[in-house]
This record gives sequence, C-alpha cells and structure tokens, in this order.
Amino acid sequence: MTDRKTELQTLRADLQARLKRLHAHQRREDGAINRDFEEQAVETQNDEVVDGLEAESRAELIQVERALERIDAGEGDDCERCGQPIDPRRLQILPYTTLCVKCADSV
Ligand SMILES: [Zn+2]
Repeated sequence: MTDRKTELQTLRADLQARLKRLHAHQRREDGAINRDFEEQAVETQNDEVVDGLEAESRAELIQVERALERIDAGEGDDCERCGQPIDPRRLQILPYTTLCVKCADSV
C-alpha cells in the first residue's frame, strides 16, 4: 500500500505545476494576443477552458492541502464531519477525501 501522505504530496506538486502553467496562459506569457478576429474567438474559447481548469485545479489543491493538514494533525483517517473512521479502501481510491462515504453522500 502506498503511503497516503506521499501520494498527496505528489498530487499537490502536480496541481501546483499545473496551476502555474494555467496562470502563465492567463497572463499571456505563452504568446502575444492574436489580432485576427476569428482566431481571437478561438482564443476566448480557450480562455474559458483554461479558467474552468484553473478553478477545478484550485479546488482540488485546497482539498489536498486540507487532507494533508488533517494527516499532520493525526486525524487524517477520520471523517471531518462525523468523526468516524473513513474506510481505508475509500482513502486508497480518493486519497484527498476528508469525509466518510456516508457524509460524502449527504453533501
Ligand atoms: Zn462521516
């Protein structure tokens, strides 16, 4: 079984790298803005995709960091809401979860 904390730290590094790339795109560091109208429309669409990915990655990163904090506090295996232990099989599939299956279902 892989160490959950190591797995989360790897995941966190991946997400941070991805966010950095997305932010570079948002700041147009990867190229000048295209003047051509049609290409600009494509670029705007890409921006929406990038914004969506950025929001998604940021939410995931927050979740990963919360799970890591809880592991450091010695409560990483307990549900954040009801305090019951989280099924280890669930933690293996979703290492960043902080809720047991029952509480996650009732969200
Ligand atoms: Zn619970």
